[in-house]
Amino acid sequence: MTQFETHEYDILVIGAGGAGLRAAIEASAAGVSVGLVCKSLLGKAHTVMAEGGIAASLATVDDRDNWKVHFSDTMRGGQYLNNWRMAELHAKEAPDRVRELEAWGALFDRTKDGRTLQRNFGGHKYPRLAHVGDRTGLEMIRTLQDHGITQGIEVHMECTVLELMKDGQRVCGAFAYERERGRFCVFGAKAIVLATGGIGRAYKITSNSWEYSGDGHSLAYHAGADLIDMEFVQFHPTGMVWPPSVRGILVTEGVRGEGGVLRNNQGRRFMFDDIPELYRKQTADNEEEGWRYTQGDRDARRPPELLTRDHVARCIVREIKEGRGSPHGGVFLDIAWIKERLPGAAEHIKRKLPSMYHQFKQLADIDITEEPMEVGPTTHYVMGGIRVNGDTQMSTVAGLFAAGECASGIHGANRLGGNSLSDLLVFGKRAGEHAAEFAREHGSANVDAGRVDDAAKKALAPFERGSGQETEGPYKIQEELQEMMQELVGIVRRETEMAQAVDRISQLRGRAGRVGVGGNREYNPGWHTALDLENLLTVSEAIARAGLERRESRGAHYREDHPAKESNLSAVNVVVRKGDDQAMQIKQEAIPDMPDELSAIVKKMG
Ligand SMILES: Cc1cc2nc3c(=O)[nH]c(=O)nc-3n(C[C@H](O)[C@H](O)[C@H](O)COP(=O)(O)OP(=O)(O)OC[C@H]3O[C@@H](n4cnc5c(N)ncnc54)[C@H](O)[C@@H]3O)c2cc1C
Repeated sequence: MTQFETHEYDILVIGAGGAGLRAAIEASAAGVSVGLVCKSLLGKAHTVMAEGGIAASLATVDDRDNWKVHFSDTMRGGQYLNNWRMAELHAKEAPDRVRELEAWGALFDRTKDGRTLQRNFGGHKYPRLAHVGDRTGLEMIRTLQDHGITQGIEVHMECTVLELMKDGQRVCGAFAYERERGRFCVFGAKAIVLATGGIGRAYKITSNSWEYSGDGHSLAYHAGADLIDMEFVQFHPTGMVWPPSVRGILVTEGVRGEGGVLRNNQGRRFMFDDIPELYRKQTADNEEEGWRYTQGDRDARRPPELLTRDHVARCIVREIKEGRGSPHGGVFLDIAWIKERLPGAAEHIKRKLPSMYHQFKQLADIDITEEPMEVGPTTHYVMGGIRVNGDTQMSTVAGLFAAGECASGIHGANRLGGNSLSDLLVFGKRAGEHAAEFAREHGSANVDAGRVDDAAKKALAPFERGSGQETEGPYKIQEELQEMMQELVGIVRRETEMAQAVDRISQLRGRAGRVGVGGNREYNPGWHTALDLENLLTVSEAIARAGLERRESRGAHYREDHPAKESNLSAVNVVVRKGDDQAMQIKQEAIPDMPDELSAIVKKMG
């Protein structure tokens, strides 16, 4: 018989980033009992790393902004594949969620007259990102934790969920292990909110931390939920490229928002060379106008460095491929140049971008107030994830909700910077509210003891196999998968390569079945890596198969063999689902038509 601890809650929230915390706060405020589980320590979630800001049409800096412009920017950025209902709710509710955060104690940077300061970011028509220097996520997590902890939410830190339990068609609990002691826990719950973040660790070069192995995506998929849009992985244009040990670490878009420019090794601002038709009217056609925009000139249009991330990343790849890159395989990002325009520029840069200043000084010995940075694309965010109802955030499995990066729909084919933090608050709140409602309307369900035994046996199998010669090492498989995904399912994709990736994933899955580990269950990173493999392999397969299915280029999904957009795919989601035969099924499904009032907004905003 498996030994395990048991915990019972009305709602179990898995993940303590912005989405999980906001969901837990809302559910707890509704009067139900809430347990919150996270893989690392509270406060270490991905959200804490967020730099540039949170997007909301507060209109404190430019009074022309409103929810309609934000909605239209989000839809255009997502190439109209977004769940329009989610984009609408997000644009309408984000300002209230930010004001609420302020009421709970968050201190955003201020305008001279004491209002919330907002900065420019790619794809946003007006300055829209409320921020705290370039450490916005820290302020957000601190505020949510302070607020949540006083509400009596029970937190289980360093506790990793391995499997969701079902009673018939609905979820009823989760099976997990504690990182420190290796002990098993079973959580019984009337409803579950998944808020486990992204999948960046499926790739070699990434801005994501070790935790982002696609656990929530994989848990939901194996529990029978639909995933959508998995082909859309965001490669942020600016990650560090040098030295090798820091490759992939994010360089915030805030640098470009504050006037930073991209140049190739000939000193040319190459972003002016390719401005997409969809954005031509909104984009500056000369350097002077671009500079004026970053300094708040309401009549100027945004510089091409602030086009959407998918486009900027591809332009950088083009420069590197055609031999115009920087010495270490990137391009130059220069904020130091603003001293030609701004008195006291060095101090200004340090004040506006303190983390970037320290990051480059300490990790690369570069003073960004004096020299350009070298940057290149890095795997950053996944638009694809668990399919949810736009209003309630419930997945296609009863009682299973999802919010934040592991959920999908709002961002369509490409997320605009700043729209994730607001997504976490808007839909975290909604998930918590509706999960509480579900828990109140449905009684308890039973966790099957046999299922728990099976899950425990599966989790302990790597120890059974030991670390003998016939076994495989977990790190080796993880590394091979990351290199393969980078190579074959990266920024520029082709049919043959993605098909090869699917084969390689199947081989790696076979090898993962022979993974063995030594040692004991107390804090054993080799064992933890072995347990993450199932999730990494599942999300990688979903990305590659969905990428094969979408035979066109749109948003973050660029196919060299199908470089144009195809009209028959312009309103279609690629749905990933586990078949009765346990194999991954891929299906195209039409996105419902937008109501007339939303279409009219999109048309009007151009
Ligand atoms: C460097 C960086 C800068 C960014 N800057 C911005 C920005 O300025 N603006 C913006 O809008 N977005 C930004 N983003 C994106 C944004 O930060 C993330 O998309 C967002 O924070 C994700 O939040 P989340 O709540 O969905 O998940 P996360 O904050 O990623 O939290 C996930 C939680 O789930 C837990 N978890 C995962 N798996 C399990 C499991 N199996 N069992 C138990 N717990 C589990 C983790 O421990 C963690 O607590 C940035 C991202 C990065 C990497």
